Amino acid sequence: MPNYPAVRLRPREGRRALAGAPWVFSNEAVIDAAAKSLAPGSLVRLARSDGAIVGTGYFNPHSLIAVRLLSREGNVEIDEAFFADRLKAALALRARLIAAPYYRLIHAEGDGLPGLVVDRFGAALAVQVTTAGMEGLTPIMLAALEAAVTPQIIVLKNDTPSRQLEGLTGEIRWVKGSLDGPAMLEENGARYFADLGGGQKTGWYYDQRDNRAFMASLAAGARVLDAYCYTGGFSVAAARAGASAVTGIDSSAPALALAAKAAAANGVNCRWVKADAMAELERLAATAERFGIVICDPPPFVRARKDLESGARAYRKLARLAAALVEKRGLLMLASCSHNMPAERFQQECAAGIARAGRESALIRSAGAGPDHPVHPMLPETAYLKTLVYLLD
Ligand code: SAH
Repeated sequence: MPNYPAVRLRPREGRRALAGAPWVFSNEAVIDAAAKSLAPGSLVRLARSDGAIVGTGYFNPHSLIAVRLLSREGNVEIDEAFFADRLKAALALRARLIAAPYYRLIHAEGDGLPGLVVDRFGAALAVQVTTAGMEGLTPIMLAALEAAVTPQIIVLKNDTPSRQLEGLTGEIRWVKGSLDGPAMLEENGARYFADLGGGQKTGWYYDQRDNRAFMASLAAGARVLDAYCYTGGFSVAAARAGASAVTGIDSSAPALALAAKAAAANGVNCRWVKADAMAELERLAATAERFGIVICDPPPFVRARKDLESGARAYRKLARLAAALVEKRGLLMLASCSHNMPAERFQQECAAGIARAGRESALIRSAGAGPDHPVHPMLPETAYLKTLVYLLD
């Protein structure tokens, strides 16, 4: 049995963890001198206050989430074989879901590996480590990835701001091979490009795959406006599906360059506008231009809980500005990727914004991230993506 030190739950605390959740908050654990002396990220066994073992995980005395469980077994060794088993399960699920090797391979707790995200672009992997525990496990994690996937390229895209909460600094490091240009990926039959080292997050947002397919299925003959288009995910899908015209708006020139490259690779035409999206929507409102489909997939407006009210106002404003540009009986898609924006509240703000634009609407689809982003059933709050589609009057 591995000799990991024990961290105990306080009496009558840790109900969620005991019921099956993989997190223990710092106020639920005994953080005494012995616990404080453990290095951030140390592997530990979690024990109930009576000493009975709950599982195995890692501990960070400085983090709000003190323990993240890797396993509900007490005598498991967190070694390469452990990672190999988790990877095998994750790969088997993706093979059933998605024909080509372009997907999120590991989605943290949803795949039993808290602190780890891996996006796969064929033979290239973009890896994000967000906790001290997973940072310490990185060498064996990478060895297991090498063995399971035999990638040619691995980049550690460890530049997420949330690493600071775990006392980690940022770095982008090519662990195996490297790329001069973007990686190619396929999604819903289209080709796209992702900048694995320099792009946002891992370079591509696989979470919207099914929502892109849905919007594209409605796009034939429509004039489409894709606000916050990034590297062209929704735009190119709509153009391929026969949209009569597509305009993508984003503030990032490098993202728009990759969007244009994707349009060319798919033999479609889109117009790309580098602008602040809300300003551009306001400008368009003053013209006669209207659209059969308007898509808004902005960056998170609620980054921290304290931003809830200001972020909620921003979502409402965006819904109002976008609704004003939708043709009669056209469609409006509004998305939020803010962890801290509850789904119900997002829906309220979208409804209020659409009404403020003087439009009546019906919600025809409410969806989240695709199934390669599994959610731990005891952590419903980690289902961050909310994508709503409305039919307007
Ligand atoms: N819809 C995209 C993902 C959007 S991510 C997809 O399907 O892949 C959010 C995008 O908003 C990023 O590309 C970012 O560059 C852009 N962005 C951030 N602030 C912006 C602003 N004020 N105006 C326009 N685009 C902005």
